[in-house]
Amino acid sequence: MSSTSSEVLVADKVWMDGKFLRWEDANVHLMTHALHYGLGAFEGIRAYKTKDGRLAIFRLKEHIYRFLDSAHICLLKMPYSADELSHACIELLRQQRDRFANGAYLRPIAFMGHGAMGLGAINPTRVAIAAWDWGAYLGERGIREGIRAKVSSFTRHHVNVSMVRGKITGQYVNSILAKREAVMAGYDEAILLDISGFVAEASGENVFIVNRSGVIRTPPVSSPILAGITRDTVIRLLRDSGRAVQEVTFTRDAMYIAAEVFLTGTAAEITPVREVDNRQVWDGKPGDITRWVQEQYSRVVRGHEPRYSEWLTYV
Ligand code: PMP
Repeated sequence: MSSTSSEVLVADKVWMDGKFLRWEDANVHLMTHALHYGLGAFEGIRAYKTKDGRLAIFRLKEHIYRFLDSAHICLLKMPYSADELSHACIELLRQQRDRFANGAYLRPIAFMGHGAMGLGAINPTRVAIAAWDWGAYLGERGIREGIRAKVSSFTRHHVNVSMVRGKITGQYVNSILAKREAVMAGYDEAILLDISGFVAEASGENVFIVNRSGVIRTPPVSSPILAGITRDTVIRLLRDSGRAVQEVTFTRDAMYIAAEVFLTGTAAEITPVREVDNRQVWDGKPGDITRWVQEQYSRVVRGHEPRYSEWLTYV
């Protein structure tokens, strides 16, 4: 079973501050600083059932390093090393092996705990890792047929307002407002522009376009985007297959006249976009490159491509 955003999550265990707790015991105090002011770092990681039936976490090392970087950027002192956090992720899945036999979504989170209040307070960092079942983030139909996206009325971060290299909890209010605006208007996802009006990223995914000459483009990491690990994976897979990928900025109407548009993210995986702002993308069906990337990504994360086996950490 996989959850949607409206379902209540339950699993058996949570790793919290160095201990394995029962799911229902993993609570925080009302006066948790991060709850009030949003100072926290988090990650989203997937584990897949591989071809030999074992569970493997995809690109664990890169996610843990980004987690540490996010904490460092927002001056959260991280009491655990990369090895300790990686081990906790593995152990959490090992202890729930039967439950997560078909895959899992892992959520490490570090945040300023309770103690003092006020913006200048420095309280001990709390660190936790939860795991749950999470199916297709933008829906099974979205993965198969593509989603409808809307350019948001909300602008993506400015690089000197938000720290765009960090996956920082409070920064997600911008994403939530954009996402809810899009969903309330009848779309599946929001695509946000940067302050100059160029395409940045979706509320929780990076954006790729393929133009009618087959040129593949995605905004560069100098844009206000999260340096997505799926984005990096997709660029590597495309380049290894002999296809060029240009990391360049482009305008919203480049999406309107693209042959293909797709989104990448750990939760959303590779999701085709069939419509942007009520303009059908090409024939409204996922294109050849999108299909190839979906298929190749699915093979890589499940251990079918030995060339990329260093990306898998078996549980
Ligand atoms: N952009 C944003 C704003 C995100 O939240 C995410 C999800 N972490 C992504 C892009 C995609 O990143 P990744 O591929 O590392 O999951």
